[in-house]
Amino acid sequence: MADRSNEPVVVIGLARFGSALALELTERGVDVLAIDSNPRTVQDLSGRLAHVVTADATDIEALRQLGVPDFSRAVVAIGTNMEASILTTSLLAELEVADIWAKAVSRRHGRILERIGARHVVYPEYDMGERVAHLVSGHMQDYV
Ligand code: ATP
Repeated sequence: MADRSNEPVVVIGLARFGSALALELTERGVDVLAIDSNPRTVQDLSGRLAHVVTADATDIEALRQLGVPDFSRAVVAIGTNMEASILTTSLLAELEVADIWAKAVSRRHGRILERIGARHVVYPEYDMGERVAHLVSGHMQDYV
């Protein structure tokens, strides 16, 4: 498989999960186009991300104007707003972005995202719960 680790990434939705992801990718030297519909959120991140713009990712023309079809990787980091998450993921698939990652807030949400074109679905809250369980059980073993 081709090494895509340094190809640019579009990150859509810049709340806690999306902003942490965009900042970490930037830190690792990956070029990031970060998008959020909330101008205040964009303003707050403008000093720390090189390319951060206000746009509605459910608007296909806005995505085209931002050059999103030229990207091969995108992360949909919208979760709670499920309608926006699903619409955005389907537009990225329509624009033929090859590698779509999407965050889901439930298994049912994740299954829909997979059906409409997300190649990878992540469940930050379940995954973190499992990781903390490992940490806690590992920690407790130190005492038995
Ligand atoms: P987190 O858990 O990362 O804090 P969340 O899943 O609780 O986020 P959401 O309401 O899903 O929060 O929104 C995540 C971000 O996505 C917000 O910053 C919001 O402004 C942005 N967002 C929501 N809809 C759109 C859209 N249509 N286009 C672009 N950004 C959007």
